[in-house]
Amino acid sequence: MDKGKVFFVTGGAGFIGSALTRYLIENTDCKVVNFDKLTYAGNLESLSSIQSSKRYHFVKGDICDQDKLSELFSKYQPDYIMHLAAESHVDRSIDGPAAFIETNIVGTYTLLEATRSYWNTLSDGKKQKFRFHHISTDEVYGDLEGTDDLFTETTSYEPSSPYSASKASSDHLVRAWLRTYGLPTIVTNCSNNYGPYHFPEKLIPLMILNALDGKSLPVYGNGMQIRDWLFVEDHARALYKVVTEGIVGETYNIGGHNEKANIDVVNIICSLLEELVPNKPEGVNQYLDLITYVKDRPGHDVRYAIDASKIERELGWKPEETFESGIRKTVEWYLDNKQWWSRVLDGSYAGERLGVS
Ligand code: NAD
Repeated sequence: MDKGKVFFVTGGAGFIGSALTRYLIENTDCKVVNFDKLTYAGNLESLSSIQSSKRYHFVKGDICDQDKLSELFSKYQPDYIMHLAAESHVDRSIDGPAAFIETNIVGTYTLLEATRSYWNTLSDGKKQKFRFHHISTDEVYGDLEGTDDLFTETTSYEPSSPYSASKASSDHLVRAWLRTYGLPTIVTNCSNNYGPYHFPEKLIPLMILNALDGKSLPVYGNGMQIRDWLFVEDHARALYKVVTEGIVGETYNIGGHNEKANIDVVNIICSLLEELVPNKPEGVNQYLDLITYVKDRPGHDVRYAIDASKIERELGWKPEETFESGIRKTVEWYLDNKQWWSRVLDGSYAGERLGVS
């Protein structure tokens, strides 16, 4: 399967990119070139299970560096480019939007230009089969507060945060490169992911690790913000389906049919920990007591919900995990993989690159 095919994955050391890279190496015969800048969110230790594969290559680099991208495209001759590199954390985008504009907008533009030059050098046969797959978020659609609506592929864009606005811009650029230059692109917009190897600044790992340490569990506002959760390995399978079987020019929404209020997610984590780790940190009677409501995030969207029926109908993908099975696997993974997350928490995963040794 896919013998000899080359997948060029940007952001392959991140949360979803590493799940995709592991999936590709473990389930296909393809080669993967993981191109990643290794920002604070990039962690090569998430790839330790596949790093010795001869079909896996890591190259450190920035998607804003067009010369380097062009050099690598001519060296590796990718059949597919899957673009996941991004600044991805909404709170960080509020504190410092510049990096989001640079990587998510300028970086995507630069990658598109490098891809276009490379694509123009391909033979007609290879040109036709080539795909540029842009991985995006449901946050571009904005807020569904007060409605029962779902986001479909034709919902208009109304991003709220610097993060979602930068992703919306990048989606528009990708579609413009298809329409204007004929570059064979596909876009996917996915709901919130969770699962193993998730950086502990995000809701689910933050709550698990704080609870294990007896620290407070900070919940924004009243905790009633609703998100649609998808297990990251289900997302990786969906991405592979889309890039290999999806139709050029189409958009596919990907989601898990798992709408949950943030406070319910935190409650579920607490009850799983009660079951799995009955010996609590000193001074903690029950994990639920650690929940603390904190000032809401500015511009916080109240509800996101995805209609994923198109990818289910047209490509035959559907999630394998329910929220209940996926969250249990996730909590168990964090309990079994202290070495991975303790090296993230103390900064040693980054070596000297982030100024921590
Ligand atoms: P992440 O923050 O965990 O990883 C991003 C990766 O990109 C990191 O490895 C980082 O080092 C790399 N990177 C950042 N800037 C770079 C640059 N200039 N050049 C090269 N590499 C760079 O993000 P994630 O959660 O894995 O998300 C991956 C993609 O999926 C993003 O585009 C995000 O918008 C999208 N997405 C995420 C979610 C989610 O719930 N996490 C949901 C839907 C879509």
